Amino acid sequence: MPRYCPTCNRSEADVKFYGNFCEICSGEKLSEGLNNSAELQRCKECKRIRVKGKFMTENRSNLETAIQQQFRKNHVRVVSYDAKEALAKISVDGPEGILTVDKAIKLKYEKTLCDKCYKIKCEYYEALFQLRGDKSRIEKVISHTKALFERNNEFISKMESKDGGIDLYLSSKRLANEFVAFYKLYPKMSYVLAGINRSGKKQYKNVYAIHL
Ligand SMILES: [Zn+2]
Ligand SMILES: [Zn+2]
Repeated sequence: MPRYCPTCNRSEADVKFYGNFCEICSGEKLSEGLNNSAELQRCKECKRIRVKGKFMTENRSNLETAIQQQFRKNHVRVVSYDAKEALAKISVDGPEGILTVDKAIKLKYEKTLCDKCYKIKCEYYEALFQLRGDKSRIEKVISHTKALFERNNEFISKMESKDGGIDLYLSSKRLANEFVAFYKLYPKMSYVLAGINRSGKKQYKNVYAIHL
């Protein structure tokens, strides 16, 4: 005698059973207990989303990781998504083993500003290249600097014509140092006090006078 599901009357001969209920009804019941939505943070400038504390491009796999963070007990696989919801397969540990259910998860976006866009907005900089001399060499240095900084998720915060050359304000000292070392530019260095950090240490901006 096959068993019948008390909810939908399907027979054990046709569908798998989990406990006293058929796979479908068990799945529905388990699915009801899951979150219907996921809260996400998205930068209003660059549109990247926050994934494990870092802002990253919004794509299927990053979205999946961000949602997974909110479904800790279950395994989430995002099948597809649009601006409003993600269709996911969620594996739930049921009484009779792992059960995978389809779930539409509403995506709730909180608008925010990522660190990088915040810094761009306030024209944050740690390093200043004062490029003087040959115009075409200056151009070359600017384009190489731009490429290096973009590759490293950093940025040029400001560019100004100054004393017949160009002042280039940069977001990272570390990269600026790498750059001048790599191209053997031998700049004349000076330092401008930028402030004092929380632990009371003086912070400096590096100024590189570069004659090309
Ligand atoms: Zn059933
Ligand atoms: Zn951003």
